Amino acid sequence: MVTRKSSNQIAIMRRAGRVVAEMHAEARRVAVVGATTGAIDRACRAVLDRRGARSNFLGYHGFPAVACVSVNDVVVHGIPGDRVLAEGDIVSVDCGAIIEGWHADAAITVAVGAVDDESRRLIATAEAALAASIEQCVEGGTLGDLGAASMAVVRAAGFDYLREYTGHGIGTEMHEPPEVPNYGKPGKGLRLKAGHVLAIEPMVTAGRPGVRTLDDGWTVVTLDGSRAAHCEHTVAITDRGPEILTRP
Ligand code: MG
Ligand code: MG
Repeated sequence: MVTRKSSNQIAIMRRAGRVVAEMHAEARRVAVVGATTGAIDRACRAVLDRRGARSNFLGYHGFPAVACVSVNDVVVHGIPGDRVLAEGDIVSVDCGAIIEGWHADAAITVAVGAVDDESRRLIATAEAALAASIEQCVEGGTLGDLGAASMAVVRAAGFDYLREYTGHGIGTEMHEPPEVPNYGKPGKGLRLKAGHVLAIEPMVTAGRPGVRTLDDGWTVVTLDGSRAAHCEHTVAITDRGPEILTRP
């Protein structure tokens, strides 16, 4: 069920990962006060075109864009469009690329102009939770180690994590087994081996737990309207430790 990728296959995924990193660099440049969420999507699309890569988001169960663009209380799966970014917003950009049939998937959360302290801390916590999980991506470690590390960072910051959505394996499909929860118990769950490639994606909320999906069938918002941050990398487990494939 959980496949192991060869070093040649990981090399292709690394190329896809670099395209995703470039999409994020463009998204950061575009995500300023007065820009629309649609402009972020178009910037990501331009990178895919320039690099000859395909989108794994566009058309996925009918998703209409190459990036999920999620503002403030939208946790994930926001549809880019006419919404104009305002000073103090936080916006997550989740996107991916396919090269020669191999996928990469990553997300960042960006501050638009000057944001309040809680929002800044929320983004930093999602990034730290992701980093803590990645540190656990070693042969002989377990998925429970990843989840426990992420959860500990989020709890220490006084925030909460989403139970409803998880990370995932990735390879010739964007979503492959296993599920990669952002919570867990050390030593429990799948034992990691070289060649496993995981998309790890903590989703951190500032308020009470619980989300719902809007009538568009995509947009996931917090029930209490509190803000959320989402970060993701595609990570290969190698015999030399973790390799982040979606790093610039
Ligand atoms: Mg993603
Ligand atoms: Mg993902």
